[in-house]
Amino acid sequence: MSAPPLQPVLIAAELRGLLEPDQLQGLEVTWLPSDTATPTGDWVAIIPLLSRWVGGTQLKSLPALRIIANCAVGYDNVDVVAAEMRKVIVTNTPDVLTDATADLTWALILACARRLVEAIDLVRSGRWTGWHPEQLLGVHLRGRTLGLFGAGRIGQAVGRRAVAFGLRIIYTARAPKPDFERDTGATRAEWTGLLAESDILSLHAPSTPETKGVVNSDTLDRMKPGAILVNTARGDLIREEALAIALEAGRLGAAGLDVYADEPAIHPRLRAAPRTVLLPHIGSATHDTRRKMAATALANVQAVLQGKPPLTPVFR
Ligand code: NAP
Repeated sequence: MSAPPLQPVLIAAELRGLLEPDQLQGLEVTWLPSDTATPTGDWVAIIPLLSRWVGGTQLKSLPALRIIANCAVGYDNVDVVAAEMRKVIVTNTPDVLTDATADLTWALILACARRLVEAIDLVRSGRWTGWHPEQLLGVHLRGRTLGLFGAGRIGQAVGRRAVAFGLRIIYTARAPKPDFERDTGATRAEWTGLLAESDILSLHAPSTPETKGVVNSDTLDRMKPGAILVNTARGDLIREEALAIALEAGRLGAAGLDVYADEPAIHPRLRAAPRTVLLPHIGSATHDTRRKMAATALANVQAVLQGKPPLTPVFR
């Protein structure tokens, strides 16, 4: 009996080094670099990076497509309505990146609270003249309030880590989280309460029409003076110029950001603003996590092409 024909799939070229040959069995892969436009053709699956927009035009040029297996948990780069209309399944990579992203959120919280960028710059510059009792004083965490905007997988993982630091936790989400509240003592709050009470406000909601621009000049004004803002979710939750102005004015204590509205561009005023810790979107960047993300995307493709249900569809 002859082997079944190979199935033509498009995979982001940047994932090549994270995949094993046996994961690609049965597939005829076209490796698609991120700086190359989505081509026209009869590919049955695509694994894009989060930087590739897959919308109506791309779906039209891929008429045989059965699955978009996004290599990220966020899927704001995919027009899910257009995909559904064409009966194309959309999957993401939840869970496998939760710990890595929560850890990085904590790296930002600590870097902001303890002024790590200024401290490292001082040592590197050779201007450090020795221990001083009032040098680079930061924010003491125990007893402060951590506000989580979004308390799903990553928001809750950030909150669970906060218990060890002695923080009080409040959160905003569409639905209450009783297990999280029981385990951490967290309480649910409206967005306005979160703004008013948080010493550290950490964003963990997806980019949607409701969440885009939730942090803007008006809401920044309602934050506690000296508060720390952290964003490892999506850049467009924040109006970057408004944040830059709040930092310049000394309204905020610090901002720790991993994501930006127009990556890799960063609003020049924000890039130049004081008291920032700016990272290049490395929330999930650990060896294990990136391999698991690529493996999850591939497993979704293999399942769907074998007529099985996808492992992690964005909508069930
Ligand atoms: P998740 O489990 O779906 O959690 C999302 C949370 O946001 C949920 O608690 C949800 O509320 C809440 N939410 C959604 N819309 C809201 C609204 N309008 N107002 C208030 N809360 C709202 O997602 P996750 O796995 O934690 O990931 C969160 C986001 O992190 C992803 O969407 C992605 O964009 C980002 N991310 C970034 C990196 C990075 O590299 N920096 C890595 C991974 C993920 P309900 O629970 O009530 O539905």
